[in-house]
Amino acid sequence: MNLATSLLAAAERTPNDEALVDGQHRLTYAKLHERVARIAGGLSELGIDRGDRVATVLRNRNETVELFWACQWLGACFVPLSWRDAPADTRYCVEDSGASVICFEKANARHADQLQHVRSIAVDDADEGSTWRRLLESSPSDGALDLDPGAPSVMLYTSGTTGRPKGVPRSHAAERAAGLSQVLQHGYQAGDRTLGVMPLYHTMGVHSMVAMSLIGGCYICQHKWDVDEALRLIETERVSSLYLAPTLFHDLVTSDDRTDFDLSSVNALGYAGAAMTSTMVERCTDVFAPRIFVNHYGSTEIYTFSIRAGQDDKPGCAGRPAINARLRLVELRDDSTPEDTVEALQEGEIICDLSSDEAFCGYWNRPDADEKAIRGDWYFTGDLGRLDEDGELWIVGRVDDMIISGGENIHPLEVEDALARHPAVLEAAVVGAPDDRWGQRVVAHCVLSTPVDAHELDAFLLEDATLARFKRPREYQFAEDLPKSASGKILRRRLREREE
Ligand code: AMP
Repeated sequence: MNLATSLLAAAERTPNDEALVDGQHRLTYAKLHERVARIAGGLSELGIDRGDRVATVLRNRNETVELFWACQWLGACFVPLSWRDAPADTRYCVEDSGASVICFEKANARHADQLQHVRSIAVDDADEGSTWRRLLESSPSDGALDLDPGAPSVMLYTSGTTGRPKGVPRSHAAERAAGLSQVLQHGYQAGDRTLGVMPLYHTMGVHSMVAMSLIGGCYICQHKWDVDEALRLIETERVSSLYLAPTLFHDLVTSDDRTDFDLSSVNALGYAGAAMTSTMVERCTDVFAPRIFVNHYGSTEIYTFSIRAGQDDKPGCAGRPAINARLRLVELRDDSTPEDTVEALQEGEIICDLSSDEAFCGYWNRPDADEKAIRGDWYFTGDLGRLDEDGELWIVGRVDDMIISGGENIHPLEVEDALARHPAVLEAAVVGAPDDRWGQRVVAHCVLSTPVDAHELDAFLLEDATLARFKRPREYQFAEDLPKSASGKILRRRLREREE
């Protein structure tokens, strides 16, 4: 089944159930289908055909969801780009993707400037005579029900840590498989309601939306992160599942206003995109008492690598390979092959079999990136992991983030986890700084709730004794906040640059 048929099936199965909420704008599945078919008809009149790319620079608003589905209905490829990027980056991605249309909201009009031969459409201009109005009033298109499920559905751009963004085309089949695996592995139930705040230009956002469509669930748009608004939406919209980056959970459970809201509708929690500290796992469990709490480890290229559906007995554990995945740990070398597996309990680079139903088939026009990441039908994640005695996976960190100090390997995550146990530490990020004596020294950047000094934090780590003594930070920096990506990843690269 492709996603056009999948949308039709949802509209036939539960026509009167709520599919999409954005403030006052509420659509049932029948209405969503109708509106989407018209927008698709309008795009078709503008000359957009099967396989053509439609770029967007939009927040999580109803029009973004509608355009996603309109592209699926038409057989066009949805290319959502980040409104947080510089317009020059948007320009690069639009040109790289070959999109012939860019949809934006007026506040982000600068992203649509200076694009040659690309039609721009403001989705918050529905006045008489506007293009968006024309799309909404077009005759519905028939729907690409016969489209091969291997055809491209979306193309997401990953920023990576260095270099130009890479386009990751993903097929209808991969998108649907990813949505289904999320339904199953996050324990979703018919009619669930999720908070749609993870950006719809990121893999977590897109799959939250697709997963909801498969169970007749509702996607509640939150245009951009605001903790008080999120708490209000959870209460008023009776949100049942939260699938967020750890940073957003952090904001929710540490908010002073949290107890003013009724959060009892939430029963399923999932996090992805970055590791969650054990302290934060415990706080989320206390606040939400969830029926299911999932650590979802995955990436844009292959949606799910591994899953752990209980976090109480092993907070932070990434569990076992997901339903569509085969994983291996291999030696950390530029030329290692999928056969170079490590000994039991040893650390290695995590690789995933590309035969996963959720996998991409290679980057868009980037043979250099394919060559680096794809070896012998396995995808090399660039993440380090190890298996514990039970055969469960722990993410040790990004290969590139590893600190080598005095010849010893130190992984930021374990130092950050130990620091987060101190009651005054709200967040910590650890990087290596060049050091004449040690090669690299461990530097901790901390956000505090109450003042403490470096001496006290060091004494705490010595007393806590969960961290080997040589891994303790040699330097502390205190900050108001930490630089983060849209999916909540701490941008250690930026912190490292400050140290150089
Ligand atoms: P992205 O493609 O932006 O989703 O980034 C994928 C990367 O995010 C992975 O390769 C990991 O480095 C990191 N990541 C994703 N999920 C998790 C998780 N549950 N725990 C730790 N790191 C994660």
